[in-house]
Amino acid sequence: MNKPVSRFHMQSATALPSSIPVSVAWGDGIGPDIMDACLRIMLAAGAPLQVEPVEIGERVYQRGVSAGIEPAAWDSLRRTRLFFKAPITTPQGGGFKSLNVTVRKSLGLFANVRPCRAYTPFVESRHPRMDVVIIRENEEDLYAGIEHRQSEDVIQCLKLISRPGCERIARYAFEYARANGRSKVSCFTKDNIMKMTDGLFRKVFEEVAADYPDIRAEHMIVDIGAARLADTPEMFDVVLLPNLYGDILSDVAAQIAGSVGLAPSANIGAGFAMFEAIHGSAPDLAGKGVANPSGLLLAGAMMLQHAGRGDIARIITNAWLRTLEDGVVTADICAANGKAVGTEAFAGAVIERLGEGPRHLKPAVPAAPMDARALVLPRRPAPQTKKLVGIDVFVCSQESPEEIARRLQAASNPLYELALITNRGVKVWPGGLQETFCTDHWRCRFLALPDKQFNKAMIVELLRNLTHAGVDFIKTEHLYEFDGVPGFSMGQGQ
Ligand code: NAD
Repeated sequence: MNKPVSRFHMQSATALPSSIPVSVAWGDGIGPDIMDACLRIMLAAGAPLQVEPVEIGERVYQRGVSAGIEPAAWDSLRRTRLFFKAPITTPQGGGFKSLNVTVRKSLGLFANVRPCRAYTPFVESRHPRMDVVIIRENEEDLYAGIEHRQSEDVIQCLKLISRPGCERIARYAFEYARANGRSKVSCFTKDNIMKMTDGLFRKVFEEVAADYPDIRAEHMIVDIGAARLADTPEMFDVVLLPNLYGDILSDVAAQIAGSVGLAPSANIGAGFAMFEAIHGSAPDLAGKGVANPSGLLLAGAMMLQHAGRGDIARIITNAWLRTLEDGVVTADICAANGKAVGTEAFAGAVIERLGEGPRHLKPAVPAAPMDARALVLPRRPAPQTKKLVGIDVFVCSQESPEEIARRLQAASNPLYELALITNRGVKVWPGGLQETFCTDHWRCRFLALPDKQFNKAMIVELLRNLTHAGVDFIKTEHLYEFDGVPGFSMGQGQ
């Protein structure tokens, strides 16, 4: 495994890179057309790209490779550490894995960055002043894909949030804001309900914010934050989100900006980065030469900025803005009475305008190189004292809470007791409500009695007793205190 040494443009870098090795995938559908157009523009602007072609997508899937990417492409990525990717067609049906998820997870691309900007009046938008960058945590949360069916009624999905994961993405968001002249980072979570997982994301966000007094930091519950983002996006600048909310809201933001076809996306890690348009392979337009290369081109500009050639990224973006202002557009964003050009002609128009800038729209301005702290894995905090204080035993049963409690109490021991039973998080014993709808999936909490120690041998003994008592236990979770603070939720109704 290669060491994740970054070759990206950090504050210590001095000379501008004169050669940028990059793995390029032409993808499927409209991919080849728009990638050719983008490379033409980037090379004409002087981007020192050293292109290594790689094959991914439909044909690779059809060769029986379930992830859509083969060893030769991984070898290229290990060499270049930079991936410029046109959209691919994901085959329908089971057995195929998402290439994007595979690449993100395998290369540790922890940050997804998606600028969502309106280009009114040249591209219609209901929010003409919108200019938001969505930064989404890319590796954790419910996307670990750890799901289990535990009973007839219930399936669970594990939501994993780590302190280093939160710290790295929060720091990336603030460093991004600082480097790109943005003044505020808004973090959305649902920490009023998920007090521990989303609570950690928010807590670490607030800790990291204290290191950036020049950037405003705010937190909103994700539902009100999402409503405001959809209603008045101009009140936001950089928005930081855990994985699931970020997945949903980055699409909402691109849609309301009016620029889905124009939106780029970057996936950034400590040692690798991937750049692409947010749209798909548009099979309906494949080979027609009419697709809009703008989303991929702006992704290419983000890539050049990331690789230390922000100067060329600006030249390209400003020429592209001018092209839009001059009314040279592809069919997807052409007004009813306008005249659309094809992909190649559009690329030619951008090339003709290299060196020019927009007259009305905000031009691309120089961004500072990002500080190296944006990418490094945070240091571990001081170790805490971890003490086992009990266990949650999950039981599958059709019995009533009282019957389950009776059987479990019989399996107890004088050192610990059955303290609580919940069903879908609602307390049903002791003192539950008759009205509560219950499934066949019960969380039964055993806690050490006051002044008694709980240990793993007791867990083994308890589970043996439950087996003998015919209790169908389906999973367990140890209950720990960390420096005396419970590391487990108490459940609702307590
Ligand atoms: P899509 O984005 O490909 O197309 C949606 C609509 O937008 C279509 O009408 C299409 O013609 C139009 N469109 C998209 N990009 C355009 C462009 N650059 N210029 C002009 N018009 C454009 O979404 P879809 O139809 O849902 O998906 C098609 C395929 O793309 C599927 O196989 C899907 O899995 C894949 N996909 C890939 C990626 C990726 O590689 N990152 C992302 C999304 C979808």
